[in-house]
This record gives sequence, C-alpha cells and structure tokens, in this order.
Amino acid sequence: MTNPMDDKDCPICAKPAADPKFKPFCSRRCADVDLNRWLSGVYVVPTNEEPESDEGGDPGL
Ligand SMILES: [Zn+2]
Repeated sequence: MTNPMDDKDCPICAKPAADPKFKPFCSRRCADVDLNRWLSGVYVVPTNEEPESDEGGDPGL
C-alpha cells in the first residue's frame, strides 16, 4: 500500500523522495542544490513597488 501524500517527488530532479531523511528531496545532493538556489537569490520574491507615484509630489503652489 502506497500513500501518494507520503511519497512526493523531489522538487529538484523529480525523482521519488524515498528517503525520509532528505524529504522533500530525494537525496542530500538535491537538498544542497535547493539550498544553493536560496543562497544565490534565485527564489527572490518579486515586489510590485513603484519608484514614484502621483502622491507625495505636491508642488505646494
Ligand atoms: Zn532529487
């Protein structure tokens, strides 16, 4: 009996993450790959901040 919820694929190489030690990754190698991605800023969250807007530019007349 297999539980699909308990046997996720490795997000790095898409192999089944069989070893619970390295979940959600299949191996320490893939866990390292993911860590390196984080450290190198691949997963930077994009911001929707705009540099200038209509507000705040009051000329004062
Ligand atoms: Zn993997």
